[in-house]
Amino acid sequence: QCAQVCPTGAIVAKSDADKVWEAIYDPEKVVVVQVAPAVRVGLGERFGFKTGENVARKMVTAMKMMGFDHVYDTCFAADMTIFEEATEFIERLTTGGKLPMFTSCCPAWVKFAETFYPEMLPNVSTTRSPQAIFGAVARKTLPAKLGVKPENLVVVSVMPCTAKKFEAQLPKFKRDGRPEVDYVLTTVELASMIESMGIKLDELEPAAFDMPLGFSTGGGVIFGATGGVMEAALRFAVEKVSGEPLEEIDFKETRGLAPRKEATLEVAGKQLRIAVVHGLANARKLVEEIKAGKAQFDFIEVMACPGGCVAGGGQPITSEDGFRSKRAAGLYDTDKERQVQKPQDNYWVDKCYAEAFGGRPGSHEAHTRLHTVYNNRSQLFDAKSPIMHANTDDAL
Ligand code: SF4
Repeated sequence: QCAQVCPTGAIVAKSDADKVWEAIYDPEKVVVVQVAPAVRVGLGERFGFKTGENVARKMVTAMKMMGFDHVYDTCFAADMTIFEEATEFIERLTTGGKLPMFTSCCPAWVKFAETFYPEMLPNVSTTRSPQAIFGAVARKTLPAKLGVKPENLVVVSVMPCTAKKFEAQLPKFKRDGRPEVDYVLTTVELASMIESMGIKLDELEPAAFDMPLGFSTGGGVIFGATGGVMEAALRFAVEKVSGEPLEEIDFKETRGLAPRKEATLEVAGKQLRIAVVHGLANARKLVEEIKAGKAQFDFIEVMACPGGCVAGGGQPITSEDGFRSKRAAGLYDTDKERQVQKPQDNYWVDKCYAEAFGGRPGSHEAHTRLHTVYNNRSQLFDAKSPIMHANTDDAL
């Protein structure tokens, strides 16, 4: 088993590959897997594809050959994240709630805020990350849909970083004593598992993700690039706040690799000030400016990895020039090709709310299962030896 180190310092983690194989070969178990947006534009590089090429459909075939019973898409949960997060933002905006609101999809950023800026935690969206939302949806809906006993359902994630392994282990994401996401693999761990089977990814026929948790809009897909969460949230929030159908869905101000992207949008006669930062040094600078009253925003996206999840520590390592932009371009191209690009137009997410989460975003049931709370970790940080006590229950 190999260990991987998250470049943001979130955690050192071991591979869960052996445990995933064990579950796959256990005839009692039904093993489902979700795949994060960024994985599909990183995985191919280990198999000779062009940098940033979206290999999602061949990857689905490979995963079925490996023995996964159902292959789902974290982008479905990303759409659902937008339902909750943008609804939360609109509520804060219209009722005088805490602003700016920070996004909460990146566990390394959340841990950074919990450690160094606990006073800002009321500003962090309480909406779970897409990985954690998928875990809740899978546990709540799949046993009945798939006809499997809850204890025999094994939920696996493929993610672009080790911070997601840390997130999946958090006690707050356990239910009935068990993590809602059992095992997390990184992109390179999945690549090694595919290679160990002797599967040649480039020679496979493409296949589609399984329904209904495999359907997503373009908004869910672009989560993997810096600015993507903000853009998807704006597609939802601007349409809801203005009450008008959104014609121009590209918010290009959020795109690209500038360390900080800012824009002021006119929505229903009001000004909406947004910012996007990636890399924790840029996040720290922005938070310090906000605390000093030198920067004013309503909504801020933060991703710990420079470039966002496409350049996460669990993605294939490359020194190729422009690899971040190429992987991001793979996601934006996929968004463009989608018939449905606004998260609020995801019919299957609507249906999921109707069946299992109180009928609408922000309902009591949605708040119970799709939101979270944060911990002040400042006491766990030792300034003389700047290592988080990551393996203790206290740290979790
Ligand atoms: Fe993981 Fe994405 Fe955060 Fe990087 S930006 S730590 S890949 S969630």
